[in-house]
Amino acid sequence: MIIAIDGPAASGKGTLGKRLATHYGLRHLDTGLIYRAVAKALIDAGLSPNDAAAAAAAAKTLDPSHFDEIALKAHSISEAASIVSAIPEVRDELLSFQREFAAKPPGAVLDGRDIGTVICPNADVKVYVTATPEVRARRRAAEYKAQGKNIDEAAVLADIRKRDQRDQNRAAAPLKQAPDAHLLDTTHLDIDATIRAAIDIVEATRAGRGRG
Ligand code: C5P
Repeated sequence: MIIAIDGPAASGKGTLGKRLATHYGLRHLDTGLIYRAVAKALIDAGLSPNDAAAAAAAAKTLDPSHFDEIALKAHSISEAASIVSAIPEVRDELLSFQREFAAKPPGAVLDGRDIGTVICPNADVKVYVTATPEVRARRRAAEYKAQGKNIDEAAVLADIRKRDQRDQNRAAAPLKQAPDAHLLDTTHLDIDATIRAAIDIVEATRAGRGRG
């Protein structure tokens, strides 16, 4: 089974993806980490995230088995990740890795921006997770605080709005809800209620396809 989860910045896709993967015994890929790793490679080399050739080269040599998730999730990398991810050559380099990851038995949960639309258009279940920007900023700022990083909620909100805008309006694989994706608005849901709602969606979809 392949489950595609898409949604805007800090909508809780990663946590939901991890928990759904555990629940169904599937592998999990947080595809945002891949774009973050490309961005970090450029930042570490002192290069601009707008450098398309360098970004494509970094994407080509990426080793996802050695990702440091906490370092990659840093606030300072988010903006550069959004910039490199708008470069079509970068997305092309990363496409087959993501598709191969999804196709390996017993299947996987992938979360990102274009999973249901571009990477796995034939996914068994598609979920589009969202919440208001204010709620997403509050949750992400609380996460940073729990890691001992004091990042102002207003700065997180500004970053989220800017990235959403860029991710939705770029030409290459823009963020949008696939026509056959189920909308899951978590503005008024905590994480456990979100997981339950997502499991209900998966079960209803499987039952509808006669695999219940
Ligand atoms: O999900 P996360 O916030 O970690 O993603 C970082 C950035 O990577 C996003 O702002 C988006 O621009 C980009 N991204 C993407 N396609 C994906 C996953 C992430 O363009 N499938």
